[in-house]
Amino acid sequence: MSLIAEILETERPQDKLVQRLRESLSGYLDLAQVNDCIRAYEFGASAHAGQFRKTGEAYICHPVSVAIILSDMHMDASGIMAALLHDVVEDTLISKDELAEQFNLEVAELVDGVTKLTQIDNKSHAEAQAENVRKMFMAMAKDLRVIIVKLADRLHNMQTLDVMAPAKKRRIARETLDIYAPIANRLGMRSIQQKLESLSLSAMYPMRYAVIKKAIKKARGNRREIVQTIESSIKNRLQEADLTCEVVGREKNIYSIYKKMLSKNNSLADVFDVYAFRILCENVDTCYRTLGVMHNLYKPIPGRFKDYIALPKANGYQSLHSILMGPFGVPIEIQIRTYDMHRMSESGIAAHWLYKSDDEKAPKFQDRANEWLTDLLEIQKSAGDSLEFIENLKVDLFPQEVFVFTPNGEIIKLPRGATIVDFAYAVHTDLGNACVSARIDKQLVPLQSKLENGVTVEIVTAPWARPNPLWLNYVITAKARSGIRNYLKHFKQQEAISLGQRLLEKELQALHIHLDNIDEAKINIMLKSLSMSSLDELLEDIGLGNKMPLLIAKRLTQEDVTAAVKLDDHEATHKTPLIIKGTEGMVITLAKCCRPIPGDSIIGFFNPGKGIVVHHHECRNRNVDRKKQNNWLDVEWSPDVTGDFSAELRISVLNERGSLATIASTISNLDSNIENVTVVDQDDRICVDLITLTVKDRIHLAKIIRRLTELAIVLKITRVKA
Ligand code: MN
Repeated sequence: MSLIAEILETERPQDKLVQRLRESLSGYLDLAQVNDCIRAYEFGASAHAGQFRKTGEAYICHPVSVAIILSDMHMDASGIMAALLHDVVEDTLISKDELAEQFNLEVAELVDGVTKLTQIDNKSHAEAQAENVRKMFMAMAKDLRVIIVKLADRLHNMQTLDVMAPAKKRRIARETLDIYAPIANRLGMRSIQQKLESLSLSAMYPMRYAVIKKAIKKARGNRREIVQTIESSIKNRLQEADLTCEVVGREKNIYSIYKKMLSKNNSLADVFDVYAFRILCENVDTCYRTLGVMHNLYKPIPGRFKDYIALPKANGYQSLHSILMGPFGVPIEIQIRTYDMHRMSESGIAAHWLYKSDDEKAPKFQDRANEWLTDLLEIQKSAGDSLEFIENLKVDLFPQEVFVFTPNGEIIKLPRGATIVDFAYAVHTDLGNACVSARIDKQLVPLQSKLENGVTVEIVTAPWARPNPLWLNYVITAKARSGIRNYLKHFKQQEAISLGQRLLEKELQALHIHLDNIDEAKINIMLKSLSMSSLDELLEDIGLGNKMPLLIAKRLTQEDVTAAVKLDDHEATHKTPLIIKGTEGMVITLAKCCRPIPGDSIIGFFNPGKGIVVHHHECRNRNVDRKKQNNWLDVEWSPDVTGDFSAELRISVLNERGSLATIASTISNLDSNIENVTVVDQDDRICVDLITLTVKDRIHLAKIIRRLTELAIVLKITRVKA
C-alpha cells in the first residue's frame, strides 16, 4: 500500500470537515484569523476527545459542521471560534474563564451566551410557551451572534436528527418549528428558516413529507411546458418595454405548501395549480414599471396585490406581490424586487456582513447588526405606520423585558428592573401578599433584588407575612403596586372598624349602655337614616374620624334614633381616655410635628378620613385646631407600651473636630439609633444640630439628655415639640 493511500485510509471525518472549513474561511478572513480559528478547533477537539455523537462520529465533527454553516454566511472570526467551542462549557470541564485566558473575553462571552441558551432550552417546556421562550432567547442574547450560532447549531442537529429515537425526534422538530424557525424569520434569515422548517416537517410527518416531495417532482415534469411558455412571454414583454430584469421560475418550498394545505384545506392539486415567478430588478423604479408591464400582460386578480416595498414586513422583507390570471386560466404568482431586497429576504441580518465583507475597514459584527436594525427602522419610518414594528424591535432586540422561570419551569415576563416582589405578584396576588424573601437559582436574596433573564425564582412565604408599604418604593409593575395598595387599604379598613368599635363602646359605656344590648332594629333604622348598609361601615367611618363617636352614641340612646343630636360646646365628651400603644398601625399615628413618646401627656385629633393623629399635649399645632373642639379626643399610653419611638433634640455644641462623632457614640452607647442629623446653624464657635433619634420612652430620653449634657462640648439641649 502506498503512503498516500495509507494516509487517506486513516483520515478521520473531522479532518475532511476542517479542511472544508479552512478553505471556506480563507475566502474571507486573513491568515492570522484563520489560524486562530484552527487553534479553537484543536482546543475543542482535545476537550471533546473521547465523546461521540449518536451518529458514531467524534463529537468535534458537530462544532466544525456548525462553523462551516456559519462560514458560508461569512461569520467573523470570533463567531466562528465560538461555534467551534460552543459545547465546550456545557459538555466538558472547561470553564468560561479558561476560554477567556486561552482565547479572549469576546469568544468566552459568546460561548457563555450560547451555553445559557442551551440551558434554557433544556429547562423550558417549549410547546406551551413558545412565544415567551423566543422572547427570552432574544432578550438574553446581548450579542446577536449568540443567536446566529445557536441557529446554526440547531440546523446541524436537525440535519443529523435521523439517529434519534422517534419520540425525541418529534419533540426536537416541534421545538424547532415553535422556537428556532420563527427566530430565523424574525432576523429575516429566510433560507435558514426554510431549511429548519422542511427538516422539521420530515422528522414529524415523514409520510406527508414524502408525498408532497413526490408531488413536487411530478408537477415539475408536467408543468415544464407551460412554465416555459409563461416565462418566455414575460421575458419578451419586458424586453419590448426595454426593462432589463432577471426572470426565474419559482418552486414553493415543502413546508409552505404543507401549511397552505392545512390552513386553506386545499388539496395538493389546488396548491400546484399556481405558477410562481420571481423578477429581480436593478432598482425600485424598475420594480414598479415591471409591475405595470405585468399587469398589462395578464389581468391581475383583484385584492391580491401587495406592495411590501412601500410597506415592508416587520423583519424588513420587501417585494411586490401580485397574482395574475395567466393563459389557460391558470393563476400566476409573481414577486418583483431588487437584488438588494432579494439578498435581504434570503439572509436578513446576515446579508449585512455576507455581501460587504471584502471591504478592509468592514465594521464589526455588532455595528453591522445595528446597521441592519437602523435600516429596518428607516424602511419602516418611510412606510408610515410602524407601531407594531417598533414594538417588536423593542421587545426582541433592545430588550425592555426580562424573562424568568418559576420553580416548575413556567416563564414569567416582567419589565426590566422588576424585583422579587413584582415577580411574586405576577405569579399570584396571594404569593405577593405572603412573601418574605426568595431564592434565585437556590441563593437566598432580599425582596428588592432586581431580576435577570433566565434565572429561576422561588418565593419564600410565611403565614404571618403581609405587604409592607415600603415595597411601593421599589416595585415597578402595576400588578404589584395595586396588590400592595389593595391589601393595605383592606388592612386599614379592618383597623378602622376595630378602632371605631372601641371608640363607640367607650362613649356608650360613659352613658351606661352596651352596644350588644341595643336593639338591632334600632341600629338598622339609624343606619338607614345615614344611608349605610352595615354596622361595619358605620364603625369604619367612626374609626377614620368621619363621624363623632359621641354623636352616634347619643343618638343610639335617644327614643328617635333619626333625630339630630345637639352637643354643648363644653359637654364632657370623653370621660375615659382611649388607650393607645402608638404602634397600632394605620388609623392611629403619631404626629410628626411634636413626636410624642410614651410617658408624654398626649391628646388625639380626629383627622377625617385618616383616623387619629396623636400629638404631644404641648404641641403648638393644638392651638391651631383648638376651635375644632369636638375633634379632640383624650388618649393615654397603654402601660405595656413597647417599641421604638422617634424624638427630636436640638443641640448646641462647640464647633470642633469630632464633636458630632462624640455625640453620636454617646447616643448609640445608650441603645438608641440616630435617624437623622441636620445642621441648622453654625459659626466659628458654635454649631446647632437637629438630631432625630429612637427611644423607648421618656425615661430613656431623659437618660440620654442627661448623659449628653455631661459632655464638655455640649452647651445646650432642648427637646423639639413643634
Ligand atoms: Mn451543539
